Amino acid sequence: MSETIVHVRLDHGRAYPIQFSRLQTLPYLLGENGLRKGPCIIVTDTNVAALHLEAVRGTLLEAGWGGLTEIILPSGESSKSPQLLQHIHDEALGTGIDRQTPVLALGGGVIGDLAGFAAATLLRGLPLVHLPTSLIAQVDSSIGGKTGINHPLGKNLIGAFHQPKLILADLDLLQSLPELEWRSGLAEVVKHGLIADAGFAEELSVNWDSILRRDRSIIRRMIIRAAEIKADVVSEDERETSRRAILNFGHTFAHAIERVAGYGEFTHGEAVALGMRAATKVSAMLTPDLPYETIDSLLKRLPVRNSINHLDLTELIQAMYYDKKVQSGNLRLILLREIGSAYITGNVTEEQILTGWKFLLHP
Ligand code: NAD
Repeated sequence: MSETIVHVRLDHGRAYPIQFSRLQTLPYLLGENGLRKGPCIIVTDTNVAALHLEAVRGTLLEAGWGGLTEIILPSGESSKSPQLLQHIHDEALGTGIDRQTPVLALGGGVIGDLAGFAAATLLRGLPLVHLPTSLIAQVDSSIGGKTGINHPLGKNLIGAFHQPKLILADLDLLQSLPELEWRSGLAEVVKHGLIADAGFAEELSVNWDSILRRDRSIIRRMIIRAAEIKADVVSEDERETSRRAILNFGHTFAHAIERVAGYGEFTHGEAVALGMRAATKVSAMLTPDLPYETIDSLLKRLPVRNSINHLDLTELIQAMYYDKKVQSGNLRLILLREIGSAYITGNVTEEQILTGWKFLLHP
């Protein structure tokens, strides 16, 4: 497989690569990115461990890395918890780590966020390496340094920015990704097109059937372009003071759905697919010449198993106020100005938000 590198470039000359290459290049890339051979912590979940941990272990041992501590956690959103964070802390500290000991996050967005936060907090910051294995992780969650866990009041409310030293994305690992997770990941891919690149959104629409079939050449281009978009946005605004917020298109609705339905009921991607439909509806109320039908027909192709009709509308609206974009009690939404261009606004009425929700409840 040929190699492609996308760079995330931050201020003060900080930068790191997203390397699209085989897992077997890991030891070489660790060295190239300043990590010295020695003990390391691998955090993963049970599903990914069964499929891919042996390959990672073998590659590291063969290259002379020793002292591997493997921490295998239950899969699923509920693992982003204080209890499992503490578990990682206990295991890692119990093995005698030092400031150079890298944490390798092998898994989807859940493992990336959780292991990333553990890396951010252990000894005030250990080097972090992402080995993303889900589509969401390869195009989105591993890029940009957001790490964290959930709180009963909302998703990702406890966390830190902690940028990785390296992201190694091996596209072959996606072959074992279950169909539901593949399709859920497509929601974030479509989001990247809608907020930042109209040509890419159009390409997705044209190639949709090949994408669902995971046609290798098409998905390779798709994943690299989606990762580039995320890297560009993060490079411009690491701490989400302005532009980075556009990556939350659909997420204020989505996080409310996940919270009210109970974490795990909808995959993150399913909730985002629904959230983007509601946000597009609201966008069209503020921008009447938005090509609403074109956008909604692309979003409708993202599969979602459950309806949200059983969820309580008042609870959903209340849940939106736990969003991190809320300022002085004022909801702020990411909306579309046109395909490929998004903006943040606090100028949305309760009536318009209600219309967005009602559209999801009774499309
Ligand atoms: P996930 O980590 O739960 O992975 C989904 C499922 O796929 C899990 O059951 C996992 O075990 C399984 N899996 C992963 N890779 C596999 C593989 N190669 N083969 C077989 N099974 C595999 O969730 P996700 O969808 O990857 O990510 C969602 C999470 O990411 C959410 O918690 C969300 O909040 C977070 N997220 C974070 C950011 C960020 O910037 N930090 C951005 C987007 C999403």
